[in-house]
Parts: sequence; C-alpha cells; structure tokens
Amino acid sequence: MSKFVYSFGGGKADGKAQMKELLGGKGANLAEMANLGIPVPAGFTITTEVCTHYYKHQKKYPAELEKLVKQAVLKMERIMGAKFGDASSPLLVSVRSGARSSMPGMMETVLNVGLTSKTIKGLIQKTKNERFTYDAYRRLIMMYSDVVMEKAVGVEPKEGKGIRVQLEHEMAAMKREKGYSQDTDLTAEDLKKLVEIFKVKVQDILGKPFPDDPIKQLWGGIGAVFQSWNGKRAISYRRIEGIPDDWGTAVNVQAMVFGNMGDTSATGVAFTRNPATGENKFYGEWLVNAQGEDVVAGIRTPAPLNEATKNEQNKHMASLEKAMPKTYRELDKIRTNLEKHYRDMLDIEFTIQEGRLWMLQCRVGKRTGTAALNMAMDMVKEKLITEKDAVMRLSPNQMDELLHPIIDPSAEVKTSPIAKGLPAGPGGASGQIVFSANDAVEWARQGKRVLLVREETNPEDVEGMRAAQGILTGRGGMTSHAALVARGWGKCCIVGCSALDINVREKIMKVDGKEYREGDHLTLNGSKGYVYAGELAMISASENPRFVQFMKYVDKHRTLKVRTNADTPDDAKKALDFGAQGIGLFRTEHMFYGKNSEAPLFCLRKMIVSNTEEERRRALEELFPYVKRDIKATLEVMNGLPVTIRLLDPPLHEFVPQEKEKRAELAASLGIGPEELQKRADSLHETNPMMGHRGVRLGVTYPEITEMQVRAILESTAELIQEGKRVDPEIMVPVVSEVKELDDQRLLVERVHKEVCEKYGVKAIKYMYGTMIEIPRAALTAGKIAETAEFFSYGTNDLTQMGFGFSRDDIGGFVPAYVEKKILPDDPFQILDQEGIGELIQIGIERGRKTRPDLKVGICGEHGGEPSSVGFCHRVGMNYVSCSPYRVPIARLAAAQAAIRDLKGKGNAKKNVKRKK
Ligand code: PEP
Ligand code: MG
Repeated sequence: MSKFVYSFGGGKADGKAQMKELLGGKGANLAEMANLGIPVPAGFTITTEVCTHYYKHQKKYPAELEKLVKQAVLKMERIMGAKFGDASSPLLVSVRSGARSSMPGMMETVLNVGLTSKTIKGLIQKTKNERFTYDAYRRLIMMYSDVVMEKAVGVEPKEGKGIRVQLEHEMAAMKREKGYSQDTDLTAEDLKKLVEIFKVKVQDILGKPFPDDPIKQLWGGIGAVFQSWNGKRAISYRRIEGIPDDWGTAVNVQAMVFGNMGDTSATGVAFTRNPATGENKFYGEWLVNAQGEDVVAGIRTPAPLNEATKNEQNKHMASLEKAMPKTYRELDKIRTNLEKHYRDMLDIEFTIQEGRLWMLQCRVGKRTGTAALNMAMDMVKEKLITEKDAVMRLSPNQMDELLHPIIDPSAEVKTSPIAKGLPAGPGGASGQIVFSANDAVEWARQGKRVLLVREETNPEDVEGMRAAQGILTGRGGMTSHAALVARGWGKCCIVGCSALDINVREKIMKVDGKEYREGDHLTLNGSKGYVYAGELAMISASENPRFVQFMKYVDKHRTLKVRTNADTPDDAKKALDFGAQGIGLFRTEHMFYGKNSEAPLFCLRKMIVSNTEEERRRALEELFPYVKRDIKATLEVMNGLPVTIRLLDPPLHEFVPQEKEKRAELAASLGIGPEELQKRADSLHETNPMMGHRGVRLGVTYPEITEMQVRAILESTAELIQEGKRVDPEIMVPVVSEVKELDDQRLLVERVHKEVCEKYGVKAIKYMYGTMIEIPRAALTAGKIAETAEFFSYGTNDLTQMGFGFSRDDIGGFVPAYVEKKILPDDPFQILDQEGIGELIQIGIERGRKTRPDLKVGICGEHGGEPSSVGFCHRVGMNYVSCSPYRVPIARLAAAQAAIRDLKGKGNAKKNVKRKK
C-alpha cells in the first residue's frame, strides 16, 4: 500500500522538512517541528500525490485513502487525548492546504471541523465555555458553507449573493438589533440563535442541509482543499509565480487549538527577523482572544509582538512581551532554535490556548530584496551561513528590486504625507489611483502606471496587485495576504492606512476631508509607509556598502564573465559602474538614432541612396569621422576591457527619410531631383527586410562600408595605443550563415589593417575577428565557421526569430496566446528556449570548439540578462554573457548562483563542459 498519509505530533513525525514535494511546505515543516520537540498540535498530511491522483482520475481518491485517514485520525486522537466526533471529549480539526511552494491565501482552509449537534455538548462541558463553543460553530458554518458547499462545487453566486456574505448580513443584523458594535458583544444565547438562523439560510440558499456528521465534514474539507488547487486565484498566482500546475497541493488535517478562549488565549503571526528591512529583531503581530484567520485576513488591526518593534500605528497597543511575558519568552526561544536549525529567517504562526503555546506553522519567510540582502550579510557574520549560502539567498528578481527607484529624498523632505500606514513592501511608487483589481489590470494594459487602492486586502485581487506599481490599503497588518504577496514580488505596498476613508463603489478616497478620485496621482513610500498627494520624483536606490560587499561574494564565486551591450560612452560608463567586464555588443547603427544623430545620419542617408561606388565612397568619407569618434570614445572609456564592435547590421532602407523636407535636402546634397531620389529609395524596398539585405550581406555587396568601419576601429585603436591607453577591440560580423562570407570580409579587414599600420608606423594592431551566430545554419556549420572566426557571439534575438520562424517584430499577435494556451511556457524572446534554440547553441559551441579549442563564446541577445538563460549559458560553457547596463548586476548574480549550483551538483550541468579562458 502506498504511503499517502503522514502523521505528526507528540514529539515525532513520519515526515521531515526535506519532503516538501510530497508533503507540501506546511506539512513538511510541521513534521520537522514535531521532530524538534516543538509543541505542535498532532495531525496528519495527505500527500500531493493524492492531489495529482485526484485530478488524473475524475476527482477520485486512491482506494486505500479512506483506511489510511481513519488510522491517522486514531493516532491523532491518542496523542491529543480526545476523540473526533465524540460526545463527551470531542476533538476538532483544521483542514488546510499546503503546496510545495507557498501560495499565501490562494487556497482554502476550513477550521473547527467536527462540531456537530452531538459534539457541541461535549465541547461546552470540556471548555466550560458555551459562548466560545457556539462562536466556533458559527465560524464553522460560515467557512464550511462558503468553501465546501459553494466554492468547491463550483456555485458562482452574483456579487454580494455568496453564502458567506449573506450569513455576515445575518450576523450584522443581529448586532444592529441588539445595539452591539463588536462581534465579541454577541452572547452565548445570541450565537445559539444565530447558528439556527445560519442553518436555515444554508438550506434555503444552497438547497442542502449543513452536514451534522463529523466524518462527512472532514471529507468535505479535504475535497474542498484539493478543489481549491484549481480555483481561479490559485491558477492566477501559479501563472505569475511560474509554479507548475501539476505539482498539486497536500492537505493538512490537524487538531484544533483555540486562540479565542478568552483573555489568556491569543493568536499571532511572526517573522524571526524583520521581513521588510532584514533587521535582526523578532517581528510580528498578535491578537488576544482571536483565531488565526483574524490576523491574516486583515479584519482586525493586530498589536505588536514586542516593545522593540512598535511603530507609529501600533505604539498604543499592548505587546505580547508585556501582556504574556512567560509565553513570549518561550516563543522567543523557539524563534532562536528554529533559526539555528533552518539557518534562515522563518515565518511562523502560533496560538496560545489558555496560556499554553502551540506552533501551527513555520516556513522560510518571504522578504523584500533589501531584507534578503541584509539578512544574508548578517547571517554570514553570525556564522549561521556561508558566503555561498548568502549568494543563493537573494533571487535575481530581488536584485532587480534593489536597483529599483525610491522617492528622491530631496523631493520627499519638501512635502508632508497625507497619511501614514504600515510599510509592507519597499521602495517608491507613483501612479494614478484605481479602486478595483480589474481596473488596475485594464489601465495598466493601456500603458498607465497605477496604484491599486483597496479597503482591505483580498487574495482575489492578485492580478490587479501584479499590474499596479504599488498597493495601498486602509486595513490589515504587515502579515496580511496583500502584504505577503507584495513583499514576495518586491512591490511597493502600504497597508493598514486607517486615515483613508475609501469608497470602492464610488471610486473615491477621502483623507482629512480632501477627496481623491480615480485617476488622481499619489506617491507611496513603501519603506516608511508614507502616502503623498501628487507625483514625486524618483531616483535609483543608492549604492549601499552591504550591496558592494555582497557583490564581492558574487564575483568571487562566478566563472562566467558579464559584459554589457552599450552603444555610447555614457552607457559604457554606467555599465562599468554596475560591474561590466567589457562590451559584448556595440551596435554601430545606434549612432544614427536619438541625441546628436542628425549629422551622421545625414551622411549615412547620402551613402544609402548613392548610386555608384564613387558616390558611396564620398558619403562614407564624410561619415567616417563620426563613426571613429564614437568608437574611439567608447574604447577609451573601457580602458583595456574587451569591446566587441559589430559591423553595420540593419536593412538600409530603414534609414531613408520619410519627411518631404529631409528628402529635398538629401536630394540637393547629391545634386539629384526628388524623382530620382524617390526612384533610388523605392529600389531599396524589400518584402522581408529582416531576412533581406542586412548584416554581412551589406559588406559583401558594398565592401567599402566594411572598409570604412574597420578603418575607424583600427585607427582609433592605433591612436589610443600611441596615447598610452589600453585597448582590446573585437570586430564582429553579423548575420553570417556561411564561412565564406566571413572569409570575404576578412580579406578586407586584413587589407585595411595593413594600411592603418603603415599610416601609424606600427608593425601590427591587435584585434580579434569573429562573428555572431544568429542563423541556425551558422550554428550547424560552426565547425567550419570557427576556422575563420576567433570568437562567437550568440545573437539569440535573431536565432530565436529564425529558429522558431517567428518574426520578432510581429509576435504580439500570437505569442501571448501560445503562452496562455501553454503551447509555449514563456515568450521565447524573453526567456531562452533551452530545448530548441539552446540545442542549436550547444551544437554550435561543440562544433566550434572542436575546430578551435580556445574559441571565445558569448551571448549578446536579450537573453544575456535573463537569470534562467544566464544559468544555461554557464552550463553550456560560454565565456561571457552580455546584457543592458541595468541588468549587469542581475546577470552577475545569476552567473554566481549557476556556478554554486554546479558545484553542489544540483544543476543539470552538462558533463565535460570546458570553459576556455
Ligand atoms: C541578436 O540578434 O540577438 C542581436 C543581438 O542582434 P540584434 O538584436 O541587433 O539583431
Ligand atoms: Mg541580430
């Protein structure tokens, strides 16, 4: 019989932390805590394999499951000294989801399962608390009818007509009638009446009675959790986070302990260190006399765990440290033990039942990029982790967040916040406010920058939260779902901003009597929790010394070099600041776009519409000083680091002017009439320019274009050397598919080299001659190409275009649908298709290095800055990746992580890959 059910509790467990794939994160960590002797209510985990089986077999369980669950219930009963469904000493259970990778709030939970007309009496006797018992019962009916009887069976009620909302209305009506303001004002008698009203409502609305059988309730809960794996918000979250659909969730059934049994009971959520800043302080929130859902749902604003972490919003509230000092000390000890054991920051949930502490959950906590960096560096100092561990602790996306903007402090001091809330997600964000997740998605689709403003946090808003620049809520604490999710994404987020009077229906928010409507601009400082009216200036996060130290670790452990794609000396400088080790792609044609491009562009245009070689040479002569100036300045900035200069690539007709005046000016400079110019321009027209007269084909047909560029490169080099500077140029030929193209161009290069040497009176000028590999035929014939090319640089933009046969300029019409339908896992122009295009790359490297063992290989397509693609480049033995300046630190980190994984043998490293220095 397969082991589908794993028990835990009473100081031991069947599972352990390493079994996340099978037990889900929650189940595996509950088992681990039980094994560590930490007080965990007993229970059992139904494995993720059951979930996969369930979906593979028309939502049926494996035959033996029922028996296994029965045995596990017996075990749990023995440990807890109570019996499920028993009239005198009943045991209640919670039924919760638990995926391999945490999906906070995205799936369902049912609490208090096992309460029936029979067990109610026993619970009252046992707890001597009638009010508590009926309160637990009304919570069960509310949750169960919503999750199991409505959502899990696919009932989709109209807005405001869901069973839960209707039951909430009943409760509110009773409170109103009795003149109560709080739920806690309801007496035992009131609740007794209320549950009867609830039962009638459930029968009326859902057409079925509320089940009075504990076993039926249990299986209902289990089924609902499995069902919620395929609920809308879970699917959305998985898509955003890249969690595979076939992982499935586990189900955890665990004995209930109650934080709502009076003033010696409480519940809380905590982080072993501050998840927003990384500060080494125990950080959390708690509520006296409450159940866990009250904290995470953001319904009541919770109190701080201790004195040291109080803030503006909660400084008047009693901390757990003061209110229950002994229990706090016990919790703090568990915190230390858990951190020592897991060697990481953990996110924990606890309940105190009548003074007794129980741990309900622990998992590695989500954190901001800043916190990840600070914690990693602290933990190295504390000798909790190694430098290599530290490198693995910051994800490349978090690195991106660290490089992201914050509000310009000089602008911030000049103004005051209109409101203050809890700093739940870091950095700054400004944008137009919207009040619904759908609007956020829609406005963002139209290219607007929006801030999503909500009354309270709701996991159903996940798509809108993603689309927004920042999130602002009126209620909720630091551990509310929105805060957790935003932090996981490194998104600017402020929660619990109680000064806001938000009217979602009217799309208006009032603060201090002032109105802000949909579309108005606000700015958020998510690191402090401050909200500002209007748009404040942003700046990039300043260089932090810990970041510099962290990057030293990164560089120590990586073997792959990181270069940049830069076309101007300014970009080159920026990239050097970010740690670039050379330029992997200098696109010559970019000097004809944007700033200061008028003069060189005019010469280029003259060259393009020239009719004879003589005319063209004259135009090229005029163009030469501009090309040389840019190349020389860039080579100089790079100060001896390699600079790959690519010969002119794009189809020339792109540069023919469209405006009448420009055309007239051009015609005049060539001494021709407008009709003649039109004729020449027309003759340049191509049906498929991307596969037309571009790249090396230009150099083959007009050798003088290549000559001019090579002369500019070599003269710049000669002059810089004579000025005592260091230079390392690499001449790169684009769009090559056949070695003879390269041979043809090499003759020109060699001739120009000889001429330049004579001009400067030197014997030789050092340069490398290589090619881009961006056409499948080039990858396949790489063995021959390497006879001439001294280096390869993979142009994966074109290689993806030509490998898939997808026009890179026209993918908008179909690639999103391919991703949506899961025909492709991602847009292959963003994330390298390792299976197909990657195979071409590997073939090219293998064949190229067979011919020329010291062949230098890099990548300069957009993928060179994408973390998973960088990992691939490491594994196939490239020497370097090249990416835009801002992505250089991300690529450095991704390269270091790939190297560390490789060492640990975790990566799927290709055997025998040799990297040539
Ligand atoms: C490429 O094709 O990957 C490349 C870097 O060149 P470009 O994007 O300029 O075509
Ligand atoms: Mg290309």
